[in-house]
Amino acid sequence: MIEHGESDRATSAAVVVIGGGPAGAALATRLGRAGHGVVLLERSASWRWRAGGVFASPAAVAELRQLGLADEVLARVARPIPAMRVETPAGTAFELSYGAEAGGEAAVGFDRSALDPALLDLARDAGVGVRLATTARDVELADHRRGAVVRFDDAHGHGELAPRVVVGADGPRSLVADAAGMVRTPRLGDRIGLTWHVADDADGSSGDPPKPARMVLLRDGAYCGLAPVPGGRINVGIVLSGRAWRERLARDGAAATGEHALRSIPPLPGDQEAWREGRMTDAIAGASPLGARVAQRAGPDWLVVGDAAGFLDPFTGEGLHRALVSARLAADAIDAHLRGRGDLAAYDRAMRARFQAKDAVSLLVQVFLARPRLFEHAARRLAAKPAIRATMGLVMGDLVPASRALDPAFLAGLLVP
Ligand SMILES: Cc1cc2nc3c(=O)[nH]c(=O)nc-3n(C[C@H](O)[C@H](O)[C@H](O)COP(=O)(O)OP(=O)(O)OC[C@H]3O[C@@H](n4cnc5c(N)ncnc54)[C@H](O)[C@@H]3O)c2cc1C
Repeated sequence: MIEHGESDRATSAAVVVIGGGPAGAALATRLGRAGHGVVLLERSASWRWRAGGVFASPAAVAELRQLGLADEVLARVARPIPAMRVETPAGTAFELSYGAEAGGEAAVGFDRSALDPALLDLARDAGVGVRLATTARDVELADHRRGAVVRFDDAHGHGELAPRVVVGADGPRSLVADAAGMVRTPRLGDRIGLTWHVADDADGSSGDPPKPARMVLLRDGAYCGLAPVPGGRINVGIVLSGRAWRERLARDGAAATGEHALRSIPPLPGDQEAWREGRMTDAIAGASPLGARVAQRAGPDWLVVGDAAGFLDPFTGEGLHRALVSARLAADAIDAHLRGRGDLAAYDRAMRARFQAKDAVSLLVQVFLARPRLFEHAARRLAAKPAIRATMGLVMGDLVPASRALDPAFLAGLLVP
């Protein structure tokens, strides 16, 4: 690495976006199209698998379409999934179809190795300066003496940018949230996520019957999600909590622990299950702690989007959809701010209005998950009651206001025997 000073390059852009995942790329695209000068810094030189999600409801697909991702690209990066089958340790199962049974679009499993680069291409097409292999090292937010500064490292050495707005799209441990003093302890701290892909026999084309995704609750506080993705692969996402799993992970390592969890999944009639013995197509990526939380999502000259703005847990579908919505709402606020017509706090308010009820539902689901007998009771009711199940699917998929799941009539239908 060249020493600081030898190759310092100070440049300016109205907006610097740190992180080129879905949230950063979508936000940069929108701002670039609105005519603002945007530089996006992404530390990876090329796409690589990291702990993250692939399963998304039709609401995420709608956001991608609205962003301008062409249908032929969507067809390449997303594999339709007819339903999410939720299974309890006692063997109760119910399927959430996210409105597909009523004629809506299907949920999907994304090939992130194709989706993420396609979104960065949209940003480039919008005139964004996308700088790969460039790591933001340090962020200083504006004070009364000087404006914001982002210092970065790349193959040429060090550099710095002095934007009017700094965006943290850099995932759960955001430099920007940290610089603003907004990082808080995640609500569900005691969790470890492990994810990877395995080869499967079906690839979703040539007339293979579409496979549901599965969310299988294991004993001892773990659960495993299986989602079919393009290219004849299944994405495996395991969330471990509790002492027993932690000890197993420390003793046996991630690969053996993941294998053990995968083998505990009961067979599903009709599934050839090639995935169970399937070749791993990428290294296991882990995340711990799994979640992230911030006290505020915006300040005078900064904001955070996607996971940098908070992430609870994959079980209730936070993630990709929220990343794309946050990018849209943040782009509106930044555009107004740069034109002198509003402040960035409008973004925080818009996010709260959009997700407050969903957050309450997600936390309620976590209360159930932490009490296996209560969850089993609710799962049996969901399995037996199509209308309650349909509402639950629409709420989990962000397809109707989440307040519908907090309605007393809904809760009575879910809980009262
Ligand atoms: C185990 C697990 C399972 C999940 N399952 C699901 C699921 O099924 N469905 C779902 O919707 N969501 C799921 N999620 C969440 C989902 O992966 C995220 O919400 C989504 O990826 C958020 O996108 P993002 O753009 O905010 O962040 P990311 O996709 O994490 O992108 C952040 C980017 O910032 C870059 N970066 C970080 N620091 C710097 C830096 N200093 N300088 C430059 N670049 C930097 C990183 O390299 C990365 O490219 C899951 C998450 C986990 C951990």
